[in-house]
Amino acid sequence: MNIDVINLGPMDNCIYLVSEGQDALLIDPAWDMNFLEHTLQEKGLRLLAVFFTHGHFDHVKFAQDLLEKHRLKGYMEKNDVILSGIDAHMLNAYSGEQTFDVGPFRVEIIPTPGHTAGGVCIKIGNALFTGDTLFPGACGRVDLPSSDPREMRRSLVKLSKLPEDTQIFAGHSYGGKCSSTIGYERVKNPFMRNAIRDAEAL
Ligand SMILES: [Zn+2]
Repeated sequence: MNIDVINLGPMDNCIYLVSEGQDALLIDPAWDMNFLEHTLQEKGLRLLAVFFTHGHFDHVKFAQDLLEKHRLKGYMEKNDVILSGIDAHMLNAYSGEQTFDVGPFRVEIIPTPGHTAGGVCIKIGNALFTGDTLFPGACGRVDLPSSDPREMRRSLVKLSKLPEDTQIFAGHSYGGKCSSTIGYERVKNPFMRNAIRDAEAL
């Protein structure tokens, strides 16, 4: 499995192109559909599915054009569908833990509300696409509409229990870095550490 990190837009969004042979998935495609189309063509890839970590505009902007062109429905947690502004008929809305088999990919959905009510992490093999839930050394904002700091703490504890070699790929490259491991974050990320400590104190 190959993972390309594509940085697009004014907010340092990380868009992920996951491929295996000629089959590809996009995670959080936004901002520049021409560039993404060009990248798919250049690599000779066939887009099988589109997944969204959550519905904020910077993770979905112009994605509806891509979905329409490829005649695909994007996968999004149902609580974030309205927030996304994407027509509901262009989305496969789901809730809870899910596993989707798409071509050669087994895509596991881990609900991680907190940043938004419908936020999820997307696990494919050893790779975990964390959107705006978990960043290297930080977590997403919890002061936005549909944010919930308590849910975020629970979500961080849930992620901390994944195998420590799980590679994380975050939704932005704040500070130039969008990748880390669960093992590293469990030790070094103050938000995850505090969430684990609080959970253990209960
Ligand atoms: Zn966000």
